[in-house]
Amino acid sequence: MQVISVINQKGGVGKTTSCSNLGAALALAGYRVLLMDLDPQAHLSIAFDRMPDPGDPSVYTLLGGHHSIADVAQPTNVDGLYIAPTNLDLTGSEQEFANEIGREILLRDALQDYSRSKNAPDIVMLDCPPALGLLSLNALCASDYVIIPVQAEFFALQGMAQLHDVLERVQRRLNPNLKLIGILVGMYSKQRNLSREVVQELRNHFGEIVFSHHVRVNVRLAEAPSHGMTIYEYDPRCAGAEDFRIVATELASRLGLQSRPGADLVPPAKAENHAMPNFE
Ligand code: ADP
Ligand code: MG
Repeated sequence: MQVISVINQKGGVGKTTSCSNLGAALALAGYRVLLMDLDPQAHLSIAFDRMPDPGDPSVYTLLGGHHSIADVAQPTNVDGLYIAPTNLDLTGSEQEFANEIGREILLRDALQDYSRSKNAPDIVMLDCPPALGLLSLNALCASDYVIIPVQAEFFALQGMAQLHDVLERVQRRLNPNLKLIGILVGMYSKQRNLSREVVQELRNHFGEIVFSHHVRVNVRLAEAPSHGMTIYEYDPRCAGAEDFRIVATELASRLGLQSRPGADLVPPAKAENHAMPNFE
């Protein structure tokens, strides 16, 4: 079981869109994938039409120690894709758990238990909130890998130094295994010089850690969640579906995942060194 935080403290950069559609692409390729909604806004849960009623098993009751992941995880309409949803109860959790001993590792403990169960998925993707508070810290402490989605916009790099600083401190003090596995450029438009400039600047800073394929601006990606669907159910032939399929292939290869029978994924690439890039 490999755990991946999809994180950027900025809102609206494509974290939730990437989680649901990368997760779906990997599930369609034959992997078992669990998505977890760590954002109190519950966008991921709403997008799958799985928002729990207050008090029902959710990421909130999981972190509170009342339920296990097996209680919280539910199947979605995509074969092999599961979701651990949340509801607005999670909003107060940062304060509520602030004085708890081991407050950063509540999720790590729950995932470690789950990884030993026979139902453990191949991949867990954590949809982080747009803040670097306790929920994001829980995600980073529980993760093997980090994906940072960014928009191909002028402010793409703004905030990256702060995020990098947090990743480095988590790596040093709490989770030495944490690795950055990819920076995913979204809202890319080939026609715009700005998109190309932003990608160039990201490559100058981060080199090959930037996924070689970008997710284009595609209105179908914005429409799908309002129908409770991933892009593969809503419009499997649109550009957004193709982009996430290609990025999922690249991700599986970087993770060194073995292809599944019938899986539409390339064989694992040679082991690469996905160390944290240097900002200097
Ligand atoms: P975050 O989770 O980082 O806040 P979202 O994934 O919710 O960001 O994306 C923000 C908004 O942009 C959403 O309305 C989403 O549907 C839309 N969006 C994301 N990626 C694309 C894209 N490639 N093309 C068009 N709209 C997109
Ligand atoms: Mg989101």
